[in-house]
Amino acid sequence: MKVTVVCEHNASMDSEEGKKAYPEGLGVCLKNMLEEAGHTVTLVRMDENGADSLTDEIIGNTDVMFWWGHWYHLKVSDEIINKVADRALRGMGMVFLHSAHDSKMFKKLLGSSCSLKWREAGEQERLWCVDLTHPIARGLGEYVDIPQEEMYGEPFDIPTPDELVYIGWFRGGEVFRGGCVFKRGRGKLFYFNPGHETYPTYKIPQVRQLLKQACEYVAPQIPLREEINCPHIPEFSIR
Ligand code: ZN
Repeated sequence: MKVTVVCEHNASMDSEEGKKAYPEGLGVCLKNMLEEAGHTVTLVRMDENGADSLTDEIIGNTDVMFWWGHWYHLKVSDEIINKVADRALRGMGMVFLHSAHDSKMFKKLLGSSCSLKWREAGEQERLWCVDLTHPIARGLGEYVDIPQEEMYGEPFDIPTPDELVYIGWFRGGEVFRGGCVFKRGRGKLFYFNPGHETYPTYKIPQVRQLLKQACEYVAPQIPLREEINCPHIPEFSIR
């Protein structure tokens, strides 16, 4: 299928730790991971100039979109946010990673602040699977360990997830709904908390398997809903 990875590039990724974690770049790591699964992947860079290379053509040809952003959420134009959100509601799958919880896109689709507790101390996270029958967790056992991760903790201001797959526990004592599925319109989205840019979390085989399975799970199973144009309202379309 056609997958688009929208990934920020920030100065933290150019730090010694960032380069050690992902010498090839975090976005390229995600792209390679999804290509391993047989997908055709387009990588779109987000930075201080926003995500302007996310064109209508790319959006219109995407089955599943991955989104990793942190510093530059507010630089992404509302026009792009609206176009992507529209396609997501018509059936495109989305996977939001780590600090994408604070993106305009995630908040628009969820309708809440999506705020959380956090601490950057390189702690162990153990992601406990709370639904062993879920396709995203297939073959991964009771838990996935991440040696070093940024702590994200409850309260996480999100609507009650439609499907809760993982709860993360941190060495410092906090817990977090770190693997959640939400259904919006005809589309599905998955949020996954691990993936701070200075820890090589997306190199861990179990995490890669989990994200490939998430990509399959949120992928559209039926054709995307068409646009509906109302003839009575000029230039108006019900999307
Ligand atoms: Zn982070």
